[in-house]
Formats: sequence, C-alpha cells, structure tokens
Amino acid sequence: KPRVGVLALQGDFREHIAVLRGFGAEAVPVRRASELPEIDGLVIPGGESSVMDKLSRTFGLRDPLREAIAGGLPVYGTCAGLIMLSSSILDGIEGQESLGALDIDVRRNAFGSQTDSFEVALEVAAIGDPPLHAVFIRAPVVERVGPAVETLAALEDGRVVAVQQGNVLGTSFHPEMTQDHRFHEYFLKRVRAAR
Ligand code: GLN
Repeated sequence: KPRVGVLALQGDFREHIAVLRGFGAEAVPVRRASELPEIDGLVIPGGESSVMDKLSRTFGLRDPLREAIAGGLPVYGTCAGLIMLSSSILDGIEGQESLGALDIDVRRNAFGSQTDSFEVALEVAAIGDPPLHAVFIRAPVVERVGPAVETLAALEDGRVVAVQQGNVLGTSFHPEMTQDHRFHEYFLKRVRAAR
C-alpha cells in the first residue's frame, strides 16, 4: 500500500485524504518535517496559498518540502497547491513565496471575481475519455510554461490548467471536489511507479 501524505496546514486536505483512501492508499495528514521521509507521495491541497505559504514557514516545513521534492518525492498540487509549487506568482501578496518545484509562472486570481467558480468538461490526453469534470474555484492559471514542463490540459481559450514536470504534477482545478477522481488515480500510478 503506498503511503501518501496530504499537507494539512490549511485548506481542503480532508477531501483529498478521503479520495486517496478510496483508491486503497494509506493517506495521512502531514504537518511536520519529520513526517516527510515516511511518505511515498504528497498532495498539496486547495485553500489559500498565501496562508499555506506562511504556515509552511512557521512550521519549519518550507525547506524540507523543497528538499523532498528535489529528491524525487512525487507531489500533486491542486489550486492553491499548484500556486505553492510554482516558481513565480505574478499576483502574490506582499512577501508571498512559493516552493519553485515547477518551472511555471502562475496568476492566482486569473478569472476575476465575476467568474469566481465554474465547471468544464476538460480534455486531458493523459487521462483519456470521457473529458474530465473539472471544478475551478478562484482558480489560478499557468501563464508561463518552462521548457521542461509538460502541459497536460488547457481550456478552450488556450489557458493552461494542468502541468507536469518530472515528479511534480499540478492542476488549477479541484478533482477532490467532484466524483471524477481520475487525476488522483493518475497520481497514485506515478507514486507506485516511483516506489
Ligand atoms: N485563489 C486561492 C489562492 O490564491 C486558491 C483557491 C483554491 O485553492 N481554491 O490560494
């Protein structure tokens, strides 16, 4: 059984834990650096990236997280988690930092307040048919994709919403909030392969 941690500083970590358990993984909340060596993969949930960033530093997790990811730990970030994984936040709050695990620039409030939340059927070749039911909630968009980054999905207007770079996976949307959990399945496959 793969042991998958979910960063549990803030945000919707409980939902991720439930989905991962549904697929037979041992899912555990992670709040301390000492827990990182004990997991085979890590999910960084949605929530509020500036708060998550601050808490990760307060809890002494920021640098250990960076090291674990650089060491090859499979990681999946959704929404605020994607922002956490980015190398640059175009509209971060004063002093907000990120982990620099994905060579991408993100815009946190890319859709404006008028289109706060929406759902689309998203074509994702890596996931297959039918299109993924994707839920966006005050979602970020990837505005720059580095040469080593693979785009997994984009909206019809071309805006990038799912990327992968080596052991790191990120989506603007929230599969844990739907019944369509094929992205978690995809991530778990990667976790098992990396073990
Ligand atoms: N806009 C939020 C942020 O900046 C992300 C929202 C979410 O995770 N649903 O962190």
